[in-house]
Amino acid sequence: MQSRIFVNAAQVVTCAGPPRARRGAEMSKLETLPGRAVVITGDRVAAVGPEAELRRSYPDAEEIDCVRGVLTPGLVDSHTHAIFGRARADEQEMRALGLDYMQIAARGGGIHSSVRDLRARGEDELTELARGRLQRLASYGITTIEVKSGYGLTLDDELKALRVIARLARELPMRIVPTFLGAHEIPLEHRSSAAARQAYIDALVHEMIPLVAREGLARFADVFCETGVYTVAESRRILLAARENNLLLKLHADELTSCGGAELAAELGATSADHLGAISEAGIHALAATSTVATLLPGTMLFLGKQTRAPARQLIEAGVPVALATDFNPGTSPTPNLPLILTLGVSQLRLTVSESIFAATVNGAAAVGLAGSVGQLSPGFSADLALFEIDDVGELPYWYGDRRCLGTWVRGKSCHPRHLQLS
Ligand SMILES: [Zn+2]
Repeated sequence: MQSRIFVNAAQVVTCAGPPRARRGAEMSKLETLPGRAVVITGDRVAAVGPEAELRRSYPDAEEIDCVRGVLTPGLVDSHTHAIFGRARADEQEMRALGLDYMQIAARGGGIHSSVRDLRARGEDELTELARGRLQRLASYGITTIEVKSGYGLTLDDELKALRVIARLARELPMRIVPTFLGAHEIPLEHRSSAAARQAYIDALVHEMIPLVAREGLARFADVFCETGVYTVAESRRILLAARENNLLLKLHADELTSCGGAELAAELGATSADHLGAISEAGIHALAATSTVATLLPGTMLFLGKQTRAPARQLIEAGVPVALATDFNPGTSPTPNLPLILTLGVSQLRLTVSESIFAATVNGAAAVGLAGSVGQLSPGFSADLALFEIDDVGELPYWYGDRRCLGTWVRGKSCHPRHLQLS
């Protein structure tokens, strides 16, 4: 099988270590290796080591010149809502003028406008829209993307969104992890009474989750557990049904209010608990006792102009593995730029550079259940790499908002070549 050798990198950042999320002080142990090269064979990493030595060991390997950039594991964006129709730029100005969520909803905005919009569009049209958006995410160095449904909120429309994800997972080179988020909101047509609300949750549990699982359309199920959306009891019921159907679990937990979402994630052994802007002390301790990854989404708070910050330092010091993700979505975080989220991780959540890099590689991979195969440059791991036009990895969160990615490779195949002429 043909091997390729990545040479002439200013630094190789491997994030190598055990095939699981990093916690506490482990997140500070980022190694930046000068004079190193990476060999990939087929779709796997074959070796990482001193360049001269690897050139001797793999004399027939095709060379890829890293042009003195920094080579890292491909970034993992473990939380996106990339399947939607129109942009919602109009709401940004409404917020600036002081309108709150309910007033924006009354003017036809908010999540329900994305639901109406997605329901009105066909699968082909949604696929084209999402394809461009996922390619944009990839252009920032992302090689693995978790993508949620959740703007359909009927059986047919959720299946439509999941089929779009499945199609793009087949067609695009990046690795896509599908999540069923039928419990993103209570649909408007189910809000007239307690019985109507109950009927939607029954449909999730008895119809939608079993069908999604049977058709193999999702790896994860997720619930928006929040005051005014799904209660802890409702979230538990939905997630238990998902677990019975062999789906892995995620939660939107404690984003705005401390309602016990993190504790529920810990109780159910969820793979990740996401947002956590209002997580309680008890929630932090509950997560620390499990392997659940805390996925923090600081772009959302920045975009909404809120001062709330997830307590990243407390989480890390308590031993909770922390990941960073874009939350790419049309309402509250329309950015495809994961390195910008690393900037926010460092400047607003007070992570170190090392912690922020682990948060978007190894811990992002753990947040999508792939820590054994993705997120590090170690022999046997998937050949997912990103090359950045910087001299030192500390510049990745530093040149904020800039796109420094020169190219990515997924399973050994060139995914997003920007400047390099690669096959
Ligand atoms: Zn979300």
